Amino acid sequence: MASPSKPTPAKTTPAKAAPAKKGGAKGTPAKASSGGSPELVKHPIFDELGFQTDPNNLYRQTVSSMLAAADIMNLPHHLKIILAQPKNEIMVNFPVLMDDGEYRLFKGYRVQHNNALGPYKGGLRFHHDVHLDDVKSLAFLMTMKCSLVGVPFGGGKGGIKVDPYKHSKGEMERIVRRFTAAIAHQIGPDYDIPAPDVGSNAQHMAWIADTYSFLSEVGGHQPEAVITGKPVAYGGSLGREKATGQGVVDTLVEMLPEIGIDIKGCKFSVLGFGNVGSWTGRILQDRGAKMIAVMDHTGAIQNDAGIDAHALALHCQKTGGVAGFKGAGRIDKDEFYQTKVDVFVPAALEQMITEGEARMLNCKVVAEGANAPTTPAGERVLEARGIEVLPAILCNAGGVTVSYFEWVQNKTCQQWDLERVDRELNKHMVQAAKRVRDARKKYKCNLRTAAYAAALERLQAVYSVRSLFP
Ligand code: NAD
Repeated sequence: MASPSKPTPAKTTPAKAAPAKKGGAKGTPAKASSGGSPELVKHPIFDELGFQTDPNNLYRQTVSSMLAAADIMNLPHHLKIILAQPKNEIMVNFPVLMDDGEYRLFKGYRVQHNNALGPYKGGLRFHHDVHLDDVKSLAFLMTMKCSLVGVPFGGGKGGIKVDPYKHSKGEMERIVRRFTAAIAHQIGPDYDIPAPDVGSNAQHMAWIADTYSFLSEVGGHQPEAVITGKPVAYGGSLGREKATGQGVVDTLVEMLPEIGIDIKGCKFSVLGFGNVGSWTGRILQDRGAKMIAVMDHTGAIQNDAGIDAHALALHCQKTGGVAGFKGAGRIDKDEFYQTKVDVFVPAALEQMITEGEARMLNCKVVAEGANAPTTPAGERVLEARGIEVLPAILCNAGGVTVSYFEWVQNKTCQQWDLERVDRELNKHMVQAAKRVRDARKKYKCNLRTAAYAAALERLQAVYSVRSLFP
């Protein structure tokens, strides 16, 4: 969830030493800095379903990780094809009145990937460069994440092609409410429950809940349960804002000991210092770890003696980014990736760790706070170098888990205290981490494949009893 005062997270390389990446977070990223085009990830399912043949296509890359696990566990063919494509891809175009009296047309998306385990669930991204394939990939990841972490939801994702930081509050309110009206008959507290993602925040969620409550026929029946990540004053859950960062830290606490790293005194760096990155940084620091380097769209900073994550979060709230922070020196992009740490946390956008970045990284563990931050080529380099990757569907599942708690609280008219939220979240994260470790033993594979296998086992179990209608 982005703070409203922040500028648009630019999809360009921040520090001046590195040339701008083309489309770093969409379907067509730049080549790895080491040069050479990445190989096309192949699988018979891609040909059968007519997938795009661009090797940089994010959706193809994302689904390939699931298919690797599906092959190892001999998942039936019909489940592979069902899960390789979303059930529904909704695109809407809607006019909005601007402050200057003119109308502008906006494009919005809602992709509903799978609802075998429960209602579709997933965030809304507000970004000027969001595309259908980004949204499809993120929706697919939500299906896998919800299954892995054991919440009764399927996967969905949406977005608006808009730069939220270039509009007045009034314009944003009209954009968000018009988008809600455009998709109102496609969402619902028991059908599809959106949430915040990059560029969207609790205020946006409140406008969506309020608009939906006017438009929905369910009227007084907890219509605010249609969306999570709301302000606490309007049905939001305590602990939701920090939940994804908390989940990253809970995962690290579970997984680091077997890698031989003590969280107390361990050194880490963070890419992206928005909701996920800054909360991960603050909570890790509170557990005795030391933040050595941070990079966001405004630049990269480093301090071997440690960067105060709380002070940096305040600085970012005031100024919009890490640039100009007094407690650290400025470095360039390559220096950022080369900084020696125990744990590196990518918490910005997709496809940022390509082969080049993977070669530069000087860490023992990559804890994926962002969704799909590592490309398949980047992952191969990390694996060859013995760097352990804690996959996003495990590591960043804390957000959707506390969203589930928010939904439960709305449905049952309760307000849990923070202690209960954190305790229940920890239970889910510990269990999910155990499932991943068990799957790694069973299938003798890396943690990403194991996480997908664990997620697929639950989906396979539900399909085997529900069967396919008719
Ligand atoms: P955010 O908008 O709050 O923060 C994004 C951060 O990325 C900002 O610090 C921005 O400066 C940085 N960034 C953008 N482009 C960059 C670039 N080219 N180089 C360096 N830094 C760049 O977003 P968020 O909510 O923290 O989400 C971050 C990631 O985590 C996304 O992949 C999102 O899908 C994922 N995620 C978020 C949640 C959640 O609860 N917010 C849950 C699960 C996963």
